[in-house]
Amino acid sequence: MKIQTVETFPLFYQLPKPYGDANGMKAYRTCYLIRITTDSGASGWGECVDWLPTLHKGFQERIIPYLIGQSVADRRKLVRTIKKWHARAAASVSMALIEIIASHSRLNVCDLWGGKFREKVPVYASFQSYSEDSSWQKQSVKAIEKAAAEGFSTFKVKIGGKSIAEDQQHILSVQNFLLGKMNLVLDANQSYDAAAALQWQSLLQKWPNVLWFEEPIPVKQVTEYRTLRQRLAVPLAGGENMESTADFIPLLSGHALDFITPDPLHIAGIDEYRETASLARTFGIRMTPHAYDGALTRLYALFVQASLEPWSKMEEDAIEPVEWDVMENPFTRLIPIQPSNGEFAIPCGNGIGTEIDMDLLAFYSWDGSSYG
Ligand code: MG
Repeated sequence: MKIQTVETFPLFYQLPKPYGDANGMKAYRTCYLIRITTDSGASGWGECVDWLPTLHKGFQERIIPYLIGQSVADRRKLVRTIKKWHARAAASVSMALIEIIASHSRLNVCDLWGGKFREKVPVYASFQSYSEDSSWQKQSVKAIEKAAAEGFSTFKVKIGGKSIAEDQQHILSVQNFLLGKMNLVLDANQSYDAAAALQWQSLLQKWPNVLWFEEPIPVKQVTEYRTLRQRLAVPLAGGENMESTADFIPLLSGHALDFITPDPLHIAGIDEYRETASLARTFGIRMTPHAYDGALTRLYALFVQASLEPWSKMEEDAIEPVEWDVMENPFTRLIPIQPSNGEFAIPCGNGIGTEIDMDLLAFYSWDGSSYG
């Protein structure tokens, strides 16, 4: 099977009201989908997110000319070459080629990988808590109430973008709603140093419903993480921006985290992402995927989680949850399947077992104009 065409679908959406985290406000959401079709007629979808003009030029001028005529069976070699040019583009090509092989074999992606351990995977509602509005705290609690009404029972909320006092006031009002009956994740996006992170300790030790504290400090500070892991009352998580399995080795071998949070979009290829997941299991450290940008990427995170061995024998089906973007973002509906009661049922048809929403692709097509 040789690659015959590669189509590209750059998507853009201007947010009516910006939202954000400790890294700043987002004014827009983008997505870049590709569809690879072979000479046998089989096709597969891939996805990446970056500055659209860069992605578009890279695909049109270098990646597509390189891919045309190549054998789909050479996936690892092709992805390894594209990784040298653009790691996220390599991830998208990897997705498309996996789907083609699975569809051609009349298998679901999970079956291609050795089968599912579970039919449903838990997801948690992920928020960008800040807005430019002075009532951002109230709006944040309202958004959590809405997600709870939709069946979510775990919520990831941002801290680190305001003073510790203001963030703590916000989290106290979130906890007043959750009442210990629903779970909370705090994400500081690497904002603090160890001393600032420890200012949360007196609250954290009262809150058994905090599942993890995500990236309180820069994730490459392995020794500091190890110290914090011993001193903080809650599990620590991090690693969403790592680009390779090797990047996780210091964190895993240093036992610096309780959870790693790899993102299938940021690691250059689903094969390497799966290797990262296996490595976490080998080290006995849990793995909860970051999957904020892109519905297809998130679907692959869910496929991998469904195919991953349980982390513990304590429960028959111990599997870590996958991030679910609940902010205003039309691209979260590119895959028509939505979670129910905080769980996502893995589609079991051939390939990815579902269809990309083509109307949505056409509606949000990027017009090529500059943005920023
Ligand atoms: Mg995070």
